[in-house]
Amino acid sequence: MPNNNKELILSAPLSGPVLTLANVPDAVFASGAMGDGIAIDPLNDTLYAPCDGEVIHVARTGHAVTLRADNGAELLLHLGLDTVELQGDGFSILVKEGARVSNGQALLRYDLDKVAQRCKSLVSLLIITNGEHFQARPITLKGVKVGEPLLHIVSKTPNETRDDELDIGIEVSGQIRIAHRGGLHARPAALVRQTAQGFKSRSQLHFGGRSASCDSVMGMMGLAINEQAEVHVSCRGSDAEAALRALLTTLSTALAEETHAQAPQAKTPDRTAEDGVLHGVCTAPGLVSGPLVRLDGIQLPEDAGGHDVEEQRQRLRHALAHVSRDIQQTLENAKARRHVDEQAIFSAHLALLEDPVLLDAAELAIDQGHAAPHAWSQSIDRQCQVLRQLGNALLAERANDLHDLRQRVLRVLLGEAWKFDVPAGAIVATRELTPSELLQLSAQGVSGVCMAEGGATSHVAILARGKGLPCLVALGETLLAQAPGQSVVLDADGGRLELTPSAERLVQVQQIHSQRAALRAQQQTLAHTPARTVDGIEIEVAANVASSVEAGEAFANGADGIGLLRTEFLFVDRHTAPDEEEQRHAYQAVLDAMGDRPVIIRTIDVGGDKQLDYLPLPAEANPVLGLRGIRLAQARPELLDQQLRALLQTRPLRRCRILLPMITEVSEWLHIRQRLDALAAELGLDERPQLGVMIEVPAAALLAEQLAEHADFLSIGTNDLSQYTLAMDRDHAGLAARVDALHPALLRLIAQTCVGAAKHGRWVGVCGALASDPLATPVLIGLGVRELSVSPPQVGEIKDRVRRLDAAQCRRISTDLLNLASAAAVRQACHQHWPLG
Ligand code: PEP
Ligand code: MG
Repeated sequence: MPNNNKELILSAPLSGPVLTLANVPDAVFASGAMGDGIAIDPLNDTLYAPCDGEVIHVARTGHAVTLRADNGAELLLHLGLDTVELQGDGFSILVKEGARVSNGQALLRYDLDKVAQRCKSLVSLLIITNGEHFQARPITLKGVKVGEPLLHIVSKTPNETRDDELDIGIEVSGQIRIAHRGGLHARPAALVRQTAQGFKSRSQLHFGGRSASCDSVMGMMGLAINEQAEVHVSCRGSDAEAALRALLTTLSTALAEETHAQAPQAKTPDRTAEDGVLHGVCTAPGLVSGPLVRLDGIQLPEDAGGHDVEEQRQRLRHALAHVSRDIQQTLENAKARRHVDEQAIFSAHLALLEDPVLLDAAELAIDQGHAAPHAWSQSIDRQCQVLRQLGNALLAERANDLHDLRQRVLRVLLGEAWKFDVPAGAIVATRELTPSELLQLSAQGVSGVCMAEGGATSHVAILARGKGLPCLVALGETLLAQAPGQSVVLDADGGRLELTPSAERLVQVQQIHSQRAALRAQQQTLAHTPARTVDGIEIEVAANVASSVEAGEAFANGADGIGLLRTEFLFVDRHTAPDEEEQRHAYQAVLDAMGDRPVIIRTIDVGGDKQLDYLPLPAEANPVLGLRGIRLAQARPELLDQQLRALLQTRPLRRCRILLPMITEVSEWLHIRQRLDALAAELGLDERPQLGVMIEVPAAALLAEQLAEHADFLSIGTNDLSQYTLAMDRDHAGLAARVDALHPALLRLIAQTCVGAAKHGRWVGVCGALASDPLATPVLIGLGVRELSVSPPQVGEIKDRVRRLDAAQCRRISTDLLNLASAAAVRQACHQHWPLG
């Protein structure tokens, strides 16, 4: 849409995920006190002008610039939070006050690593400071790249009305299948609401002959939409088409934690009578003992009615605002800790708190003379009932989220203290715990949680697992009849609550508990020593990193080296290519962070799903099968030469190993070896770094023997190897659960790679995600892999796993696994042969 003198489309000044202001971890910006706008968590190191305009202010400390756009909107561009405290260190301003700038012009550059380490957050703001005249509407709430449309600025007209009220714009509709596991429950519904609210149009969801506004989480949940159900979406307004596109994407994209996190297999309660033992479903494992403590919900006294309507409305508004602020705080805290599950849960709670269905019902009850606490409680109870009657277990569990909000708002209304009176070390018994109650209890140091009701997929279950707090649900009514204060044993792994343990049993539990804690501590202390199997085979446990900061973390966690530095991530989202010196500096920083340990640096792997702004590649019909990885040498040979020259200048060269991505035949490797030799000669070097091959397409695995004749080492990229072997897009949400590198076809390719490499005495590593899966460790060792490159926090755990394995036994069993028929069968066999701790 062209800019005219009223409207303006601002382009993204940074690349990275987009956040609404409410989600910015800074109370002032989040409250909108500085003005309306949007935020980006940046991945690049330069801030660009979002439109044409004049620079009207440059912060003395170089962390912020204000522009006046040609339509008069004043735009503050603020890099990071509390960055003023850095006093300009790490920032360089590229423009002066009074200068005229054009859209996309670089305004300031900053040292990403340095600033990220020293400031509170890199989240950066684009704020309209003269918001009394203008209004901002996000164009997208997903990730953006510099220059992409981000914010729509319109000048405010008096008494601005919504599109639908004016009946302007078009109505469009579409149909989509719901990808969210378990259907449209609270978290995905909150996401749909957030998406809808980014647009001016009004949007509705239609399913089973009923409709709900996309503004109402409750309304959408009330449609009882199951996973894979087909729904209709309609949008009406001036930006209806964009709104529809965004909503269809949100509805058809499963949440990250839905596709990746596998909830532990819920054990069905076995209610066979056993004296003094209650059986339940394990939602978070562990074995603990402690005094049983009962928690009860708030009971309201009788309501005589006849209250002053305005007064009660005010009370409720005040309490809702109070709870909203509290939840916002919890949310910010979760964000600061990058705890995705907590963020999703509490964002959903915030959305519920503003839900028109709930608020309308409560206000109606107040209008009828009820007191605010009773009105709120009735409204929640009614919606809980609706959810429970939908016949969907997942939605019924969401009633607990509503119950949580009931409790929180009632506590404010009744003035009750928020803290529970629960001693540290207690085992809490309750009908059903709510998410915020669980966090509160965890902070108070309780040992475990038992619920009479509840389900394994509830939010509480997710939180309990995340907190490592042993938790059983579905223990039945008998739980609530237990006398508080008695010492009990919660054996969550076994799904048992032992109500009358003997003194010996209590001692035994205490001992097991201490042993487990010691084991965890021990895993960390041993993380810095080499990992050998029981029969003496040394396995190098290295780390995958994308920067020198991550390399530092890997070193601190005990990594034996860097198994993969993805160089395309070092300079992603830059507009200009890094020169040779910049590259040398970046690679050297990684080598320096790793002490005397080896560092494997992969040459740039662009194309397919990874694109670089400064390296435009021709559009391709099928980019994953196009000019990617090493094929760049064919398209842009000078770029690869430049990278090789930079790598050849790192020191010491014996620690720098070069890895080539997407190799399919020997000639590609030979060509790079020749280039390396020629460049080394030009630089007067007689030393050469080792040159390895990534095995990530089936052709390379099948030719491993020929490749190993030349290459110094082979490193298997199981992510792409899965994609190309199984013919399943590695980014396809609908296929995510099936892109499993433990598929026997993959194992056969891995086995063939190891056999081929062994013929020439070369070692084989794995740098794909399979290396970080402890279930796969014995299989990979059994097939002949000798280096595992894992995510930095997992180094201790994987080393520990290695030390418990017998490589000869792994070899025998892994050979048999090649004959199984599916990845699921392989996983099952692995669980049997090598159970996880
Ligand atoms: C792989 O494909 O397994 C790999 C390690 O490379 P990337 O994930 O960067 O494609
Ligand atoms: Mg790859």
